[in-house]
This record gives sequence, structure tokens and C-alpha cells, in this order.
Amino acid sequence: MAEAADGIIIAGAGQAAAQLAQSLRAGGYAGPVTMVGDEAFPPYERPPLSKDYLSGKRQVERLFLRPPAFWAEKQVELRLGRRVAGVDRLARRVVLDDSTALPYAKLVWAAGGRPRRLSCPGTDLAGIHHIRSIADIDGLKAGLVLPERRVVIVGGGYIGLESAAVLRSGGHHVTVLETQDRLLARVTASPVPQFLLNLHRGHGVDVRLSTGVEGLTGGDGQVAGVRLSTGELLPADLVVVGIGIIPNVEPLAAAGLACPDGVQVDEYCRTSDPDILAIGDCALHPSRFAPVPVRLESVQNAIDQAKCAAGTILGQAEPYTAMPWFWSDQYAVKMQTAGLSIGHDTQIVRGAVGVPPFSVVYLRDGRVIALDCLSCPRDFMQGRALVTGAVAVNPIRLADPTVELKALVPA
Ligand code: ADP
Repeated sequence: MAEAADGIIIAGAGQAAAQLAQSLRAGGYAGPVTMVGDEAFPPYERPPLSKDYLSGKRQVERLFLRPPAFWAEKQVELRLGRRVAGVDRLARRVVLDDSTALPYAKLVWAAGGRPRRLSCPGTDLAGIHHIRSIADIDGLKAGLVLPERRVVIVGGGYIGLESAAVLRSGGHHVTVLETQDRLLARVTASPVPQFLLNLHRGHGVDVRLSTGVEGLTGGDGQVAGVRLSTGELLPADLVVVGIGIIPNVEPLAAAGLACPDGVQVDEYCRTSDPDILAIGDCALHPSRFAPVPVRLESVQNAIDQAKCAAGTILGQAEPYTAMPWFWSDQYAVKMQTAGLSIGHDTQIVRGAVGVPPFSVVYLRDGRVIALDCLSCPRDFMQGRALVTGAVAVNPIRLADPTVELKALVPA
């Protein structure tokens, strides 16, 4: 177990950091635990930001994972409004952005990522928003006070599509720009992107595929239009950019750790430095559900890696083997994904594509590796065991939606 004297420093104060602190205390760790986070808020849930927090259905206090008093009770020190700017591995010390130095016995990097920004001309104009933090959404909502705003959303991933659904449902005029020739290009290649395209278009969203941004135009410092790769100029009162995140790992890279895309860790969440671990959105880790190391941006991954890292620190190391899963809400549709479809060679649709409930099951070498379930929670619940067990299935029975997935799980 880490020496109690210097304690544990957690860089970041999001979902992974919060779970780690709780798991350390639950596991009996009694030394100092300090969480350093650059936002003004105690750890909170991010998924509702592009959903119920943007729509106004949820208030800010209801995003907090625990009431602020909880952290004091657990003797977890929160250093909010501060960032870890440097790591001195030899001295086992971090330096914050106000030059405070804090010693550590173990450092757990849970610093997540920051939104990737557009690199075209005009990005310094006002009215350009990202979706990552409470402050981002508060800024966006302030621009949505007037009705029927013309909003251009750049990026057709989860963030872009969830915000498109909320803003369109709120009566705004929404255009989505996606450089690839399909939506959700990074995560899924199947009938699902086409279904989502029809869903959004059916709700009146103008979705433009294979379309990039050449520049943003404006007057008086305020954005007024988006110049497309096609040459067209789209008028815009606001622009929302959802083109992925950049992992916040620069201090680790500067300290000499391998950070090809996030920081590289092993199945115990350890970096190549035995006193530094990494978890959550910024951790590039081996997964038994993927042929190559992956960096996963999900609540499940944040929580399960935090538990794994706590076990490693407490001397009860167990490898990280949890099955990845994700969800997204768009209009009345709930999309739930189990497993990772990268490297699949076969797709089998259960139900009628485009008419939820339906599911797409992904196979490799005849074994189930992932499922996308569209408003089909039963397939999601029952199909998880097929993914966990990489079960070899009979494709004819799998394609029959009247056959429950639990009937295909070996006894
Ligand atoms: P997020 O979590 O922000 O949704 P993803 O990486 O899942 O991030 O999705 C971002 C989407 O944005 C991808 O489909 C990608 O092809 C698209 N994209 C990236 N850069 C641009 C751009 N400049 N213009 C339009 N779309 C873009």
C-alpha cells in the first residue's frame, strides 16, 4: 500500500477521480487524498450536460455526484480552480498552476480531456461554444435565450447529435456538419448512422455529410456565419463545436511518460512509472474487448478503471476486464452500446432497421463482440453476456427478434 505520509494526489476532479477517492476510502486507505480540479465545481456527471442540463430539465446541484459536505466527511481535500501543471517524478511531487508543490506517494492521473477546437479562421469570434463543462453549457444557454436561433453544430458524433436533438426540440433551427460520409463515424459503421441521419432529418435538422468548415465569419466580434467546404455561407447566430477531445496529459508527457493518445497504462492502470497511475478518458489501456489499446470516453470506463486503480494502490491488484458500454439519448430514442465493434466482420440486425426497437449485433469470427440497441433495453440487458463471453452464436437464431438473446447464452 502507498505510504500514508505523502498520500495520494488525484489530478482531475471528474467521475473517475470521485470514484477513486471513494474506493480508496472504502478499501481502508486512511492517508491524505487530494483532488486537484480546474473547474469551480465538486465532481459532477458530464453525460447530462448535452442532454437534460442543456434542455434545462436538470439544475446544476443535481449534477453533483455527491453533496460538497460528503468530501469533507471522507477527508478528501478538493483543490478546485487549480490544475496540475508539472510532475517531478524524481522528487514525487506535483506543481500546481499557482506554483504550489504537493508531494505524493502515488499520483493518479484522471485529468480527462478538453474539447478539440476548430483550426480555421474566425475561431476567436464570440458565439462559438463547446460542450464539456458546466461553464460551457451555461455560456451556450445564455446565447439561446432568444427563440428560433440559427445554430450550426460542427461534428456528427455523440456530442453533436445529442445537442442537435435538444436544440431542435427547443425550437431552434439546427444544421449539423460532418466531414465524414456518415454520422458517428468514429464509433460505428453499420445501419445505425443511417437510422440516426433519418431520425434527425425527420425532426427537421439539416444534416450535411462530407462537409467541413472553411472558416467562421462575423461582425463586431460576434459569429454570424459558417463558410462550408462547398463554398456555401450558412448564416449562424451560434456555433457549437463537438469534434472530440484532446486528452489532458501534457504534464505527464513532459515528465517522460509515453502519451501516444492519452497516457499509456497497463491492465492495472499503471503507467511506466510505478508511482503514477492513470484512469478515465485520458488513459490508453489494453482491453480484452479490442485488438489494440483503446482510450474510452465513458462513465463506465471512468468508474471501473477507478476501482481497478484503487485495488492496485491498496495492494489488491486485479486486471481491468470490465466490458465497455455507452448510451446516448436523442429525441425519444435511447441508444445503448455494449462492447466495441472495431474489427467486426459481420453485422446482424434484429428487428426492422429504422423502426425502433431494433438492435445491431457485431460479430468477429462468429463470436459476438458488440451490440447497438436502439430503444431496445431488453437486447442490451440480455446481450451483454454474449459480449462478455464472446459467445459463438447461430446467426439465423440471432437474426430472429422473437428469439430472446438470453436463450443464446450458454448455460
Ligand atoms: P464527440 O465526443 O465530441 O462527439 P467524436 O469524435 O465522437 O467526438 O465525434 C466527432 C465527429 O466530428 C466525428 O464524426 C468527426 O468525423 C467529426 N469532425 C471532426 N472534425 C470536424 C470538422 N472540422 N467539421 C465537421 N465534422 C468534424
